[in-house]
Amino acid sequence: MGNVNLIIDEKKVRVREGSTILEAAEACGITIPTFCHIKGVLPTGVCRVCVVEVKGSKTLMGACHTPVAEGMVVSTHTPRVVAARKVIVELMLTGHTGDCVNDTNAENCKLHNLASDYEVGAPRFNVKAPRFYPIEESNPYVIRDLSKCVLCRKCVTACREIAHKNVLSIGYRGFRSKVVSGYDEALTAEVCRDCLICIEHCPTGALSRPVKV
Ligand code: SF4
Repeated sequence: MGNVNLIIDEKKVRVREGSTILEAAEACGITIPTFCHIKGVLPTGVCRVCVVEVKGSKTLMGACHTPVAEGMVVSTHTPRVVAARKVIVELMLTGHTGDCVNDTNAENCKLHNLASDYEVGAPRFNVKAPRFYPIEESNPYVIRDLSKCVLCRKCVTACREIAHKNVLSIGYRGFRSKVVSGYDEALTAEVCRDCLICIEHCPTGALSRPVKV
């Protein structure tokens, strides 16, 4: 496999063919924000926070899953890119309905950190059916507060690709979509034990450890 030359934010970069724009940017010290991405795992491109402008393309491209091409010219922080990221973060905040104000883990919420970085305040969108779920504490290893879940699928990917357990998936459609185990059964200690990999990857605090674990 050969190498590819491209330009990112006016920097010349040479990377291995098959690399993504995100990997090329990292190689030359440029940070592109990500949310659903897990390094080393096949990208899902779900959240779109990593969008960038590619010269000649009408639409913004997801940096985490777009492969580089010879002569590509990429801009990672133009006004158009920043405006798109702001709306994406705002939309995710709209679905992040759990109580973060009283949550001691809120400072670890990557969504709130992104909102702060991009100066996104309270979402303007009116959601007809806000997604509130009761907090599930029946599993001794994982507490689930799905009201905070923004359906980034990181837990599903981490469970499947890193833990190789395939316990989690996305069930239902539209506003009813949620992370489920099996056919939306209880996340019992029999099906989900103590690997804690989903918790490690959840960026919103929707999954957390019980204090005693
Ligand atoms: S539980 Fe966390 S990691 Fe899983 S989809 Fe929701 S926000 Fe993403």
